Amino acid sequence: MTTASMQRCGGCPMSPDHTMRQVHVLGDGCAALSLAARAHELANHKLTLVRPQGAPPETDHIWGFWAGPGLAAASSLARKRWHSWSIVTGQGKAVLRSQQRPYTALHRLDWTAHCRDMAQRAGVATLAGEEAATAADLVFDSRPPPVPDGMMLQHFLGLEVRSRRAIFDPDTAILMDFRVDQSHGMHFIYLLPFSAKEALVESTLFTPFVCPESYYQQEITTYLETHFGLEEFETLRIERGVIPLGILPQRAPSIPGIGGNGGAIRPSSGYAFPFIQKQIDRAIAAAREGRELGFAVPHRRVDLWMDAVLLTVLRHWPERAPELFLRMGRALDGDEFARFLSGEADWPLRLKVIMAMPKAPFLSGLIRLLAGRRPHRTAEAG
Ligand SMILES: Cc1cc2nc3c(=O)[nH]c(=O)nc-3n(C[C@H](O)[C@H](O)[C@H](O)COP(=O)(O)OP(=O)(O)OC[C@H]3O[C@@H](n4cnc5c(N)ncnc54)[C@H](O)[C@@H]3O)c2cc1C
Repeated sequence: MTTASMQRCGGCPMSPDHTMRQVHVLGDGCAALSLAARAHELANHKLTLVRPQGAPPETDHIWGFWAGPGLAAASSLARKRWHSWSIVTGQGKAVLRSQQRPYTALHRLDWTAHCRDMAQRAGVATLAGEEAATAADLVFDSRPPPVPDGMMLQHFLGLEVRSRRAIFDPDTAILMDFRVDQSHGMHFIYLLPFSAKEALVESTLFTPFVCPESYYQQEITTYLETHFGLEEFETLRIERGVIPLGILPQRAPSIPGIGGNGGAIRPSSGYAFPFIQKQIDRAIAAAREGRELGFAVPHRRVDLWMDAVLLTVLRHWPERAPELFLRMGRALDGDEFARFLSGEADWPLRLKVIMAMPKAPFLSGLIRLLAGRRPHRTAEAG
């Protein structure tokens, strides 16, 4: 297979309808299906999803994101929204509130079922086996990118738990609670309270090495016992994940990427769902203006730089993490916090975050980063 621009039917079978561009996407995960759901907006393109060999079975998990532009369809399918969320450390707590941009939890299987339904109505076909993709005008690859050795990872295990007693505050999501073991590196609990008795509780670390499953499970159990007095609970569901944090190479250098393989994962946070929607939105808008369909990195270069400095700090001085996130939570209001994490910061907001941070670790991080600087793939300027 060759690059999308080289695939304009040079040597490929001609499309049955010469005005139609045949577009194949390798994979049927978040990005591929989110695009397929909007196939009706792409006139003159015939979209096909190609399920790759060796693809693992789809399993459910929660996508968390802040409601905002381009996310109305996803928000309407949400399991729950919180207008208030907190960051907790041994030294204090920040509670942020937003009416406009609630933190939103969406089940993966609810989103993919919705997308499959929309795709079917738009006539999107599904094939199996990568070789099927060679016969298209444009091919995009949504299979996960390779993860270089030693890269920072966000790794976690989450239990959806049910307690017999009402113990959770259902109105406030806990984005980060650092009152857990910090001996392996940056570690926090992410707790989404679906009701006073049910919550998704995740033990999450930002380090280059994953832990044994028993570690996360024990951390969750200890946390619930210590901070909620919960000694016994029912486990309704388990979710686990490893998300690479950094600039990733494309899976196959000659096939342009989309989604995580198209640079959509935000390096400092692992959030990707809202950025995938942004990436697709821009690609569709450009195609509708007559430009070639293509999926650009949905982050600004300056944000990737700030992320790289933050990741360097978290890798080398993880003991500073609780203080950094608490300072950020205290410096911003809820709308600003949501905009910053959703990649919609402007310069005044970026400066507000920079001013809230302790200068010494960031200066040291910047120096370390510049000393070991490597080139990375093209992002949006600005
Ligand atoms: C458990 C979990 C929780 C997450 N939570 C959040 C969150 O709360 N908020 C957020 O913004 N982001 C979250 N993310 C990150 C991100 O949103 C998801 O990873 C998202 O699914 C990325 O979409 P994608 O289309 O790039 O990849 P995927 O949805 O993973 O799709 C990849 C495609 O490649 C195929 N594939 C996978 N492995 C192989 C293989 N070895 N060989 C061939 N084919 C393969 C898959 O079958 C699929 O078709 C989470 C990720 C995980 C794993």
